[in-house]
Amino acid sequence: MTLLLLAFAMLLALWAGVLLVFAGPLSARWREPVLKHPVLVIESDDWGAGPPEQAGALVRLSELLQRFRDHTGRPALMTLGVVLEVPDGARIAASNCVEYHGLRLADARFDDVRAAMQAGIAAHVFAPQLHGQCHYWPPAVLAAAQSDDNVRGWLVASEPAATEHLPSQLQSRWVDASSLPSRELAPEAIRRAAVSEAADYRAVFGCAPQVAVATTFVWSEAVEAAWAQAGIEVIVTPGHRATCRTVAGQPGCVDRSMLTGERSLSGQTYLVRDVYFEPALGHAAQRLADGLVTRSRQGRACLVETHRFNFLQAGEASLASLEAGLKAAFAACPTLRFAAPLELARAVRTRDPVWIERRVRPRLAVWRARLDDIPRFRRIARLSGLALPLALLERAA
Ligand SMILES: [Zn+2]
Repeated sequence: MTLLLLAFAMLLALWAGVLLVFAGPLSARWREPVLKHPVLVIESDDWGAGPPEQAGALVRLSELLQRFRDHTGRPALMTLGVVLEVPDGARIAASNCVEYHGLRLADARFDDVRAAMQAGIAAHVFAPQLHGQCHYWPPAVLAAAQSDDNVRGWLVASEPAATEHLPSQLQSRWVDASSLPSRELAPEAIRRAAVSEAADYRAVFGCAPQVAVATTFVWSEAVEAAWAQAGIEVIVTPGHRATCRTVAGQPGCVDRSMLTGERSLSGQTYLVRDVYFEPALGHAAQRLADGLVTRSRQGRACLVETHRFNFLQAGEASLASLEAGLKAAFAACPTLRFAAPLELARAVRTRDPVWIERRVRPRLAVWRARLDDIPRFRRIARLSGLALPLALLERAA
């Protein structure tokens, strides 16, 4: 009997040790707000200044989204990560590629694109958010063009450029990746750029941007501070912050990770977008439904990342795939709700009782479901037997 008690005490001590080792991520997942409803947000980047074919793609997307309504009557919503400028190829060529000149979204050449965006906003199916003045840092592209003929050709092209064709590292706006590894930008240059892009955004959309998503998900604390001054209150993230491009050109130098509802040093609310749906790359429609089911079990919103290239390069097929994905999502979660990132972030920040669960038992079940995404925890919990009492939490709810 004494031996049994001793063994049990040792087991409890082992579990306590495991919980202590993982105390940080465990408590963060307990503090992370729990959503009451399945929430689906389709996040679509790169729209704005660029190829004129975007106008037709946006019109077709808007028509498709308007055919879907959640059970509260709200139409399907897609965010548009907006780019406000592409190179003015003719003027840059005239300077022999020494000076940079931008062609802005407000230019008459983009009238149709802006009109398609505005029509979708008026129909409540598009929610614009700031992706960046440009999908690159102009001095870095200009510097790269001096030694790279492809970049030079891209920069001086007469038609509005598609930034998807730039080398990946140069698509990061908030570092100088003209050579690798990338170098930080001066905070003052970042601040000026953020102020300027917020003003351009306001000129097009009539209000300052409130939500930002960094191009290629590379940004820094200095960028957040500049965004805060420009009025950004929500930052869409992949769950961590990469601050550089490595020698290999990959996003790197990750300096923090975040869960939905955590705050930046400058006070912004972070959201996490971690479901990927790029039909042109072969992603199946079922991804939307599977992502929604998993995130809902975790009490999280399902933020789905997609890009305009799907709807420009393989337009009809991508639209069909999105439609099938939305149908699959409704079949899996008939009570799903559409929401804009801004209102989602505000609900999370204020612990709005319409959206946020406060009862302890459902929160415990959700907490248990969240633990599987802590690196190594799942395996150690299983080996130590701690997985057993944890599983009871889910059943008890
Ligand atoms: Zn982008």
